[in-house]
Amino acid sequence: METNVRGRFAPSPSGRMHLGNLFTALLAWLSVRSAGGTMVLRMEDLDPDRCRPEYAQLLADDLRWLGLDWDEGYEVGGPHGPYSQSERTEYYAQCFRTLEEKGLVYPCYCTRAERLAASAPHRGDGQEWYSGRCRTLSQEERAELERTRRPAWRLMVSTESMSFIDGHIGHYEEQLHAGHSDFLIRRSDGVYAYQLAVVADDGEMAITQVVRGADLLSSTPRQMYLYRLLGMTPPTFYHVPLLVAENGRRLSKRERDLDLGELRRRFTPQELTGHLAALAGLLDRPEPVSPAELVSQFSWSSIPTHDLDVSNFFHTILGKS
Ligand code: GLU
Repeated sequence: METNVRGRFAPSPSGRMHLGNLFTALLAWLSVRSAGGTMVLRMEDLDPDRCRPEYAQLLADDLRWLGLDWDEGYEVGGPHGPYSQSERTEYYAQCFRTLEEKGLVYPCYCTRAERLAASAPHRGDGQEWYSGRCRTLSQEERAELERTRRPAWRLMVSTESMSFIDGHIGHYEEQLHAGHSDFLIRRSDGVYAYQLAVVADDGEMAITQVVRGADLLSSTPRQMYLYRLLGMTPPTFYHVPLLVAENGRRLSKRERDLDLGELRRRFTPQELTGHLAALAGLLDRPEPVSPAELVSQFSWSSIPTHDLDVSNFFHTILGKS
């Protein structure tokens, strides 16, 4: 068992949380609390176009409503603050310079995919493999392109394979070059990309355990590469099942899938925790329970590794009012 566990929940305040976000938060919290560790709440509000302070407040309020707390982070403070990414830009700039000094950063003038770089890549977001087109531009070509467009910045990946052992899923491996290729670490408007910020923060905040949705599994090899380049120790990752609606569609804030506003009107915190615990295999049936009552029975072995279809759950609760 890990000692001195430091875990975190790192949501993006780009909308009200939905059931899937809360499921991840509950498992992250249970994993930390069952190990007697420290829980950190970090707001990943990198993207000024999508994130709002009101959503961050609602997020904290919704977590507390369910019965989840945190020892460090948003509204609580602590030794690794500030805990909102929008206030950590200077620190990302330092990490960016470290990568630049290694000769691994280059400007990219291609426009596609940039819009989403500050958000974690979730399934169906359309974040794509990059051909490496701008890697080999000459100085003259760069100067020419620079006249009409400010570049974004990419990190050169190596041709090696990056592997890691996920605490829940097991061995995972990807050839960075064949997988996602050179990836964005900073947008042309200066906003740092999720991949850089998440590693910089988990590293600096001395996080030992990252529990997050399985759609970030394929980001992890890139993040392992960044840990190495920045000279930081990677945490143990635990990727948890995604909750999906009809036809395997991932729940999404943008689709306005039943959010916490709606769920709070329909359920008590204990009822909702009971549903989440049953989905996680921690209870045989959804019975009212508090997160604190689940701590002693928490075990990764009961939690499925495949997507969890919650369309029945939605039909049932939509029928209940
Ligand atoms: N901020 C990301 C999200 O909203 C999660 C990042 C992570 O846990 O690594 O999905």
